[in-house]
Amino acid sequence: MSADNVYPVPQNVADHALLNRQQYDQMFKQSLADPNAFWAEQADQFLTWFKKWDTVNNSDLAKGHIAWFEGGQLNVSYNCIDRHLEAHGDRTAIIWEGDTPGDTRHISYKALHAEVCQLANALKARGVKKGDRVAIYMPMIPEAAVAMLACTRIGAVHSIVFGGFSPQALRDRIEASECQVVITADEGLRGGKPVPLKENVEKAIDGIAAVHTVVTVKRTGNPVSWSEPRDVWYHEIIDAASTECEPEPMDAEDPLFILYTSGSTGKPKGVLHTTGGYLLQAAMTHRYVFDYHEGEVYWCTADVGWVTGHSYIVYGPLCNGATTLIFEGIPTYPDASRFWQVIDDHQVNIFYTAPTAIRSLMGQGDELVKKTSRQSLRILGSVGEPINPEAWEWYYRVVGDERCRIVDTWWQTETGAIMISPLPGAIDLKPGSATLPFFGVNLELVDNDGNVLEGAVEGNLCITQAWPSMMRTIYGDHERFINTYLSTYAGKYFTGDGARRDEDGYYWITGRVDDVLNVSGHRMGTAEIESALVLHDAVAEAAVVGYPHDLKGQGIYCYVTLMGGIEPSDALQKELSDLVRKEIGPIAKPDVIQWAPGLPKTRSGKIMRRILRKVATNELDSLGDTSTLADPSVVDDLISNRAGQ
Ligand code: ATP
Ligand code: MG
Repeated sequence: MSADNVYPVPQNVADHALLNRQQYDQMFKQSLADPNAFWAEQADQFLTWFKKWDTVNNSDLAKGHIAWFEGGQLNVSYNCIDRHLEAHGDRTAIIWEGDTPGDTRHISYKALHAEVCQLANALKARGVKKGDRVAIYMPMIPEAAVAMLACTRIGAVHSIVFGGFSPQALRDRIEASECQVVITADEGLRGGKPVPLKENVEKAIDGIAAVHTVVTVKRTGNPVSWSEPRDVWYHEIIDAASTECEPEPMDAEDPLFILYTSGSTGKPKGVLHTTGGYLLQAAMTHRYVFDYHEGEVYWCTADVGWVTGHSYIVYGPLCNGATTLIFEGIPTYPDASRFWQVIDDHQVNIFYTAPTAIRSLMGQGDELVKKTSRQSLRILGSVGEPINPEAWEWYYRVVGDERCRIVDTWWQTETGAIMISPLPGAIDLKPGSATLPFFGVNLELVDNDGNVLEGAVEGNLCITQAWPSMMRTIYGDHERFINTYLSTYAGKYFTGDGARRDEDGYYWITGRVDDVLNVSGHRMGTAEIESALVLHDAVAEAAVVGYPHDLKGQGIYCYVTLMGGIEPSDALQKELSDLVRKEIGPIAKPDVIQWAPGLPKTRSGKIMRRILRKVATNELDSLGDTSTLADPSVVDDLISNRAGQ
């Protein structure tokens, strides 16, 4: 194992942070020793309740029953808006940066309140009741957040489908969660190109009689087909509605939303989250992981179609009274310095993005970053995949000017909130490690037989106690919930991810357990080999999978995307092979290197290794569910250029 770089917390950062190391240690200890007292205290501090709970935690992982704050009542939109009005009504809740530079809006908490109430009233007028499901299929415009909050105000359950999904994927999700209403826009706009959202909705709901209302926001103004009385314009129904709407008191365990996972590993799962526990942990992690100080501008680049957008664009930040930036565009339009320009334009203090974006912008060279100031930045975040140390160092050095703390946050749609992450003022950083668990998160590494592993070791990552923002079920399929997460290691939540714990107790996510290789009896994470490959200047991105190998059990198959302008060659292949050997050891030497102009990714930008595995083993008729693939043509190219073994 190569020696780790450590970036200790500078004293001035510790002094100004919400939590220092001593406080983290003390709170973490209490959170595990006396979870009921700990969470009761946090629930009091972070949320406003209409009625206090009777029991803090009534969960039993072995039985698949999860419940927090039963008997308590609250409303999410009230917590995210109303309670801030008196002291901070004029504060900007949402800064919107449109696809076209300079196209921006500032929405105060007061204005957000009025519009959320209007839409809530309009939905009620269309017959939407507590518990009804509403699909949201929208571009990244403020109305998307308004739609989410309006649902929560009246107790409707939203199910957001990423605006880049096809009509078929949208249809599957609308049917599976039995939505009666769809909220959309005429078109989206990304990188200057229109996205036909309303047209896609038409195709998706064709023949589904249950959908009685489609609300359409006018975004581009281009003509769309229209069918009354089903279709209504967003601006018309809200103009006709009152700006006051009483928030519906919801039980802590009432459903809040359904969200489908990205589909990296198989058929997407409709994850159900409930009200009290989810909101508490979203708010608390947002405050502590990003060390959010009042008045700061916070920007998460995710789409609201992913869980990161739910917890860290809308619910966490607004619950904390923060100013959250919503970005409609893409990182490379009009050019690849867009992120850094937006940071300067809006004086962003905290920036949260994904390794896929960091790696691709790193590939564009430093000049595009360096020509911007970025002086406002204080904290940088990463989420979605393991971040290779090489990309981490670039993020730290070039984007953050060696001044910003980096929080590499590990979590899942299912966990609802960040589970493993550094806290800026408390935890020393190691590039590539998500570091230590958040409060109340009891991690365990187990071997394949379920034996608990102690000390510095690698294994399957489990969580042994329920936490407030844990998913409650897979919508409509509780059995699948139990089988997928709670049965592999009885009584524990199994994440599906592998991890290594080092001598300092730091966690290093090695990738999906299905992707962990066993080469001649040695277990190896794909992330480790990929990180070695991207150390080479010629490599932009790499993905590694295993395939059956007569002698070694499993062989190492590497797909490598080169930097723009670099030509593949046998000499380069040898250099890469030698590099992996040198970095990890002879055992990790690649068996196959295939040049890949592009890698198959989900629409959230994650590499789909399961497809790469199928290509490597030549099982081309069983590629599995490919509906969440961003660009199917990438797969055709990989197949036709398959390397012989
Ligand atoms: P599906 O469950 O449908 O296969 P998915 O797991 O990609 O899709 P998400 O819930 O969006 O859907 O992603 C969670 C997964 O992303 C984690 O299980 C982990 O593998 C990976 N991940 C997220 N953050 C990190 C991180 N900071 N470091 C390493 N891996 C991460
Ligand atoms: Mg998953």
